[in-house]
Amino acid sequence: MIAVAINGYGTIGRRVADAVALQDDMKIVGVVKTRPSYEAKIAIDNGYPLYSNNAENMKTFRDAGLKVEGTLDDLLKKADIVIDCTPGKMGAKNKALYQSHKVKAIFQGGEKADVAEASFSALGNYASCVGKDYVRVVSCNTTALCRTLSAVDKKYGAAKVRVTLIRRGADPQDVDNGPINAIVLDPATVPSHHGPDVNTIFPNMNIMTTAVVVPTTLMHLHTIIVELRDHATTQEIKDIFRATPRVMIFKAKDGIDSTATVMEYAREAGRKRSDLNEIAVWDESINVIGKELFYVQAVHQESDVVPENVDCIRAMMGTIKEARETIKKTDEALGLKKWW
Ligand code: NAD
Repeated sequence: MIAVAINGYGTIGRRVADAVALQDDMKIVGVVKTRPSYEAKIAIDNGYPLYSNNAENMKTFRDAGLKVEGTLDDLLKKADIVIDCTPGKMGAKNKALYQSHKVKAIFQGGEKADVAEASFSALGNYASCVGKDYVRVVSCNTTALCRTLSAVDKKYGAAKVRVTLIRRGADPQDVDNGPINAIVLDPATVPSHHGPDVNTIFPNMNIMTTAVVVPTTLMHLHTIIVELRDHATTQEIKDIFRATPRVMIFKAKDGIDSTATVMEYAREAGRKRSDLNEIAVWDESINVIGKELFYVQAVHQESDVVPENVDCIRAMMGTIKEARETIKKTDEALGLKKWW
């Protein structure tokens, strides 16, 4: 059993903890919170040992009547690997502590690439992360781009990729961020950081990205144009997306013509927290004209990186060497779309 610690029990940390708990080869040895919020209470209800980020904050948990097992420092003594799910850029500050405990660490996409020895995408570069001590699971947008582009690139070759990212303003519970009534260039410069981030997984891919942020909390949306090296038909591209793990095809003609209805599908399908770990690609948007492939995809930012975190644990621990093997194991445990 791989002993997994979760540092930061927010949007990503909560989901990764639940996904790890569903696997038969790993277990949660503790989750770290900074204060006795409702999430801390739920962590205890879920059976996760609760730890404070430092000794000072332990008292606030005890004053609130919450059982706290110790500090992050204590937890790291029990862990084979820690998944750092603290807010962006905080992981880099935590790294020295992980190193001092000789504990392997997974960082998230809010960290700079150089926080780790490698960036990770299960379908993109699994083998190159096997046995590593410090790895960063790329962001929700980059994970989504790597999933669909790796499928296209492997079969037909992606000579040139151009992407417009329409990003959600904030996660649903995040009342402090916007915009409320604007489309914000984020960043105004081209490329946005997403293209270079894809290059941390596919160093030779010719990709340019532009990004704007809009007033929505549900999902990101990408419009993608790929210049193919080899000829493909529209139907062949639809077939490879259907056979790709963690990619789901939706049809506007079935009534799923927006991010709102994709999320409604996840609710109706009984997915935990209404999450959609898969990337949603619209059937009608897939179109090959000459050498150019067009498609539109949506990304549930709160959950698409979750299965990748589970796979990344097995890669770093060296327990499974083949990407397809861990992807199948993770997806079966999470009840995701059957692609195998
Ligand atoms: P979040 O704010 O929802 O959660 C972060 C959690 O860490 C909170 O519970 C916070 O209380 C806790 N925390 C703060 N300081 C801490 C400390 N010193 N020690 C321990 N815990 C601490 O953030 P998130 O959205 O889960 O993002 C976490 C990481 O995942 C970031 O790198 C982010 O860029 C990345 N990410 C986020 C999303 C997304 O859409 N939310 C998607 C993919 C990747």
